[in-house]
Amino acid sequence: MKNKAIFLDRDGTINIEKNYLYKIEDFEFETGVIEALKILQKLDFKLIIISNQSGIEREYYTKQDADKLFNYMVNKLKENGINIDKYYYCPHYKEECNCRKPKLGLFYEAKKDFNIDFARKLCNRR
Ligand SMILES: [Zn+2]
Repeated sequence: MKNKAIFLDRDGTINIEKNYLYKIEDFEFETGVIEALKILQKLDFKLIIISNQSGIEREYYTKQDADKLFNYMVNKLKENGINIDKYYYCPHYKEECNCRKPKLGLFYEAKKDFNIDFARKLCNRR
């Protein structure tokens, strides 16, 4: 059976947008995000984060910094009973890539990883 998923942005969606955020002490959840994710999880959606992190290729921070912050966020959510299935990010900026949103590379990677049904829409009810 195929899975259903919610694709979430990180900055400005899960946490308050700050320019090129990578420090844990600067991380703040957006209002209502814990409650919203709990509802989505209860409805059986895979919770997948897809984020552009061009600060890596711009050399504002490293991949390790980015992973550290993502792991912090995932653990904080876990403490609140929320399981993020996976996070994906594009580190690129200058380089021509297939993963920087609005390109769809990371969405297709998630589709493959979690057997997600892209054809079904929320309103497709019988
Ligand atoms: Zn990329």
